[in-house]
Amino acid sequence: EQSEMEKICKSPNTTSDGASFSLQANIEFKEELAAVRSVRAEGIGLLRTESLYLRHDQFGEEKQQKAFYHAILEGTNPHPVTIRLFDAGGDKFFDQGQQEHNPFLGWRGIRMLLDERALFQEQLRAILETAVQYPGRVRLLVPMVSSLQEIAVIKEVIKETEEELAAKTNTTHIDIQLGIMVEVPSVAMQAEHYAEQVDFLSIGTNDLTQYLLAVDRGNERISGLYSQRHPAVWKMIRHVSEAGKATSRPVSVCGELASDPVAACCLLGLGINELSMTPGALPMVKKALCRHSLDEMRKLAAQVSESITVSDVEDAFVKFLANE
Ligand code: PEP
Ligand code: MG
Repeated sequence: EQSEMEKICKSPNTTSDGASFSLQANIEFKEELAAVRSVRAEGIGLLRTESLYLRHDQFGEEKQQKAFYHAILEGTNPHPVTIRLFDAGGDKFFDQGQQEHNPFLGWRGIRMLLDERALFQEQLRAILETAVQYPGRVRLLVPMVSSLQEIAVIKEVIKETEEELAAKTNTTHIDIQLGIMVEVPSVAMQAEHYAEQVDFLSIGTNDLTQYLLAVDRGNERISGLYSQRHPAVWKMIRHVSEAGKATSRPVSVCGELASDPVAACCLLGLGINELSMTPGALPMVKKALCRHSLDEMRKLAAQVSESITVSDVEDAFVKFLANE
């Protein structure tokens, strides 16, 4: 006999009025693949790669990196896998004895990679070679982008690496989508200009919230001020969603907010129908999305858009749940 969970996972990804959505998984380790399959995630929306960086002192060792990516692609066939470049710094691993006063505002993500070119190129080679072997399934995601100039440089480095690889393997074109994390408020505010430069946007609400509210996401003393349900966060998300529509670029959410069932309904209401979350959260989110209509979700999104305080948002959420 099927459990309720199994039934939910096997049912189609559609709202009660037939609008479709896609749910993907955020993972970091191969060991999570069984969970990804059991909840029937449609691929990996965020593959964190910091563990590769942690495990090896000699950078990632390209071969081991490739073996890792291959394992993830094999284990999620035929779905897409979004590989995020190393996002070291901030709350993540920080080595080399380089302490900073404000690590979250410092040398992390793409900022670090652009300075550590050998490390960056090594990871790119491993990812691009994987993309050659799994055409159309690999998406490259860049963390902590905070300027258009960074995207221009990233594209150059990708092109160089592609050419190197083309000469070595006789491939002429590498089928890979390039996307950026939207987790810095200035990028969210100018999302349309960033969207034009890439193939997709992925909103990281964990960092976006901390930067927007000036609240360290790991500081317990002020954790009461940290809320991904803050109306200003929703305003930013709405703006990014509209920027995606205006430029015809897909926008997804891979921050914790996507694993909150009511928030997920609200995201759909704002036009974001691609969500990525920790595998364990997927059945509950799917259950909420399946039992409501897109029409109801749009109404919820409209209410949230008019909210001024966190409690306004929470009231709208409670009302939404009470109506079922
Ligand atoms: C985010 O910032 O929302 C995100 C998904 O990335 P991470 O939690 O790895 O910083
Ligand atoms: Mg982040």
